[in-house]
Order: sequence, then structure tokens, then C-alpha cells
Amino acid sequence: SVAEGPFITGENTDTSSDLMLAQMLQMEFDREYDAQLRREEKKINGDSKVSISFENYRKVHPYDSDSSEDEVDWQDTRHDPYRADKPTTTPRKGFIGKGKDITTKHDEVVCGRKNTARMENFAPEFQVGDGIGMDLKLSNQVFNALKQHAYSEERRSARLHEKKEHSTAEKAVDPKTRLLLYKMVNAGMLETITGCISTGKESVVFHAYGGKSATEDKVIPPECAIKVFKTTLNEFKNRDKYIKDDYRFKDRFSKLNPRKIIRMWAEKEMHNLTRMQNAGIPCPRVVILKKHVLVMSFIGQDQVPAPKLKDVTLSSEDMKKAYYQILNMMQQLYKECNLVHADLSEYNMLWHDGKVWLIDVSQSVEPTHPHGLELLFRDCRNVSQFFQKGGVAEALNERELFNAVSGLNITPENEVDFQAEIEALEKMNEDHVQNHGKKLSMFSSDGDPPIYDE
Ligand code: ADP
Ligand code: MN
Repeated sequence: SVAEGPFITGENTDTSSDLMLAQMLQMEFDREYDAQLRREEKKINGDSKVSISFENYRKVHPYDSDSSEDEVDWQDTRHDPYRADKPTTTPRKGFIGKGKDITTKHDEVVCGRKNTARMENFAPEFQVGDGIGMDLKLSNQVFNALKQHAYSEERRSARLHEKKEHSTAEKAVDPKTRLLLYKMVNAGMLETITGCISTGKESVVFHAYGGKSATEDKVIPPECAIKVFKTTLNEFKNRDKYIKDDYRFKDRFSKLNPRKIIRMWAEKEMHNLTRMQNAGIPCPRVVILKKHVLVMSFIGQDQVPAPKLKDVTLSSEDMKKAYYQILNMMQQLYKECNLVHADLSEYNMLWHDGKVWLIDVSQSVEPTHPHGLELLFRDCRNVSQFFQKGGVAEALNERELFNAVSGLNITPENEVDFQAEIEALEKMNEDHVQNHGKKLSMFSSDGDPPIYDE
């Protein structure tokens, strides 16, 4: 609800002046803004004995709330700037002192000092310097100009802030990323970016219609998924261990700044997808990589992404089919792509065109990664559990699945011993690296595909 003000009550129905209308809207905005500020203030302070004040951030300040123009006149200078809210008892007559010591409110020096002091009322982020300490005297004219400027700055920053909030609504894409996306649209590579499919902790995924390719040999799919890796780093910190321990990135990791590390995740996903593509595993096809933005083919149709395996109800026949397909894909992934998915579960498998598609492989590692086998075991556990619960009688348990995928033959029947043996294998491999500078040959190693675009 908007408080009634002089401009928005019934009396003033003149709509001929655009300036007036704009001012009315601004005032309405300012009042709402202040009301919101007060609510926030109240919420933050609660019953606390110590409270904070947002007074300085209010749009409607005590000294301009009753005058439509933003000018200082003699009425304003009556108030002690250090007590902006409480008018001092300046005598009505407008002067103090006696005889030749009389000082009127128009006195240049007093007025100038007060003007300087009143700059304290500007928004806190507005740098006013130390005018008071220097005994700076500002004429009304200069002060008014400064005040005007301070206010327009404040409004500008409020607008910027609004925009920022807007972009959070657009799923937290920072201006630099938006520019990147606009560039892709401008270049005609993408037709339009229609909207957001998913916001995760580490990425935001958009849908887009593909455009025309600059080169003939590269076909851009009619529908694309754009995965934007978040440049806010918090969530990525606990992922360090994946990439730090991945020897492919060993030399680079130490020299990188956080922004580059994010790009490396995107790059990693691209490489891993390319490997999978080459092995014929159903997965998104890489279209282009630009910094932390990865464009790939869209799994789904008409802007509707394919459902995750956890969200579809499959017939028992399809369920069985899906299971065998996944078993097959995990083996391919391991043997042909030299990869362990490392986040494989019903959340990262899509059901589309009667088959399962693997996605989300930025965290995938090679089997010789110091934790590679543990990660594979975790993947196996997720898959086994999902299909056993889903009623696939043929589904191997996690230990059998692990052996089937890795081609290793780890025998213990209980989980604890099994895991201990996995870790012992990993350790052995690491020791071998320490002594011989390369991984054991039980793991094949193909090279990375070339970097697509940077
Ligand atoms: P996150 O790391 O946030 O889990 P994902 O790569 O799993 O990132 O993407 C998040 C979601 O976005 C997925 O669960 C899926 O619904 C959707 N998605 C991602 N890539 C595609 C794609 N190529 N086609 C269709 N949907 C996709
Ligand atoms: Mn995911």
C-alpha cells in the first residue's frame, strides 16, 4: 500500500505534464523504497538492544519531504546539520546576536559551514571528503549542485542494484556472462536464448535455439543447452580435490586464479563430452566453449528438456533396457574414454528417445586419479541401488558392477573389505607414480582431444 501524498491524492488530476508525472512516480517509488527500508530495518533489529539505522539510505529525507524542489533556501539552513531530524530552536526572527554582532541565517560563513556539514547526509557511499575538518564553506549554489549530483548518483546506484536483482531473477548471470551470451546471439550462432532450464550450485543451464554456423563443416543443432559455470567460487572450493589430483591438470592448477579454475571445469566437461561422443555414448554434443560457457546440443525437444531418470516412470521392460544400456555405457566410459563419471546417478541421466543419455561430466576423472576407483565404486553403488529398487532383478550389486566395469577382480564379499582393497590399489598406483613418474599400465591412456575453442 502506498501512503497518500500531495501528488497522488484525488485533487491533482492534471496529467498534461510529463515532468510532473515522472516526479510523481519517482516520489511514489521513493516512498515505497523507504517503507521497505523501514521494514528491513525492523526485521534486522528485532528486539536487539543494539540496533542499526538505514536512515542515510532513505530517499525521502526530512528536509526535502515537504518541498517539491531539491533546492536549499533559507528555511533549510535553519536546521543544525548534525541533528537533521530535530530542528534547533533558531529564533523565528531569523537572526541571533545583538547589535553589530548580529548573525542572520543568511550569513555566508555560517551557512557555508552548515552546507559543508550537511554533506554528511548524503548516502554513505558518496565520498564527500573531509570538508568539515578543513573548515570548507560551500555556497548554496555549490551545495545544491552537489546535492543534486549525490541524489542522482544514489538513484543511479539504486537502478543498477535493481538491475542486479533482475539478473538474479534471470538466474544469476553476471554482466560479463550476459555479454558472452549476447555475443553468441549477435554472431548468429544462436538464434535466441529462450530461458533457464536449471540452476544448480555450480552451474546454470539455459535453452537456446541454434543459429547458423560461421563455417560449413560445423553444424549447430536446432536446439542447444548452454551450461554456464558459476563464477562465484564458494561451491567449487570443495571440488578442488578432484581437479588438483587429476594429473592432466597438475601443472596448470598451481598457477591458476579462481576464475581460470572455473574455466577449467568447463574445459574439462568439454573434453570429457568429446571423448564420450567419440565412443558413441549418448551424450550432448559440444558446440562451442567460450570461457566458462559451454554450448552443447539440447537433449529434449521444443524447449522441454528430457526428464531425469529419477523423474520418469519406466515400464519394467524399459527399466531393464536402461539398466543394460548403463552397464554398457559405464564400461565404454571406463575402457574407451578412460573416464569415471564420478557423479553418476539417476540425477545425471536423462531419458530421451527411448534411451539413457549421460550428462554432467565436468567432474569426471580418469581411473588413475588418486580417488578414481573410489569414485567409480560410488557410481556403481548409485546405479545398483537405483535399479535394484526399481525392480530390475538382473541388476548386479555394487561390487559386481564395479568389477564388471573396471575389469578388475576384487573379491571380498563385504563392503568394508572391498573398499579397503580399492584404496590399496589406488595407493599402489600412486606409489608407482612417485617412483616411476607414470601411471601403471593397467590403465590405458589416450590423449586429450584438442581444445575446441578458447
Ligand atoms: P549441474 O552440475 O548443475 O548438476 P548439469 O550438467 O547436471 O549441471 O545440468 C543441470 C540440469 O540441466 C540437468 O539436470 C538437466 O536437467 C539440464 N541439462 C543439462 N544439460 C542439458 C542438455 N544438454 N540438454 C537438456 N538438458 C540439460
Ligand atoms: Mn547434474
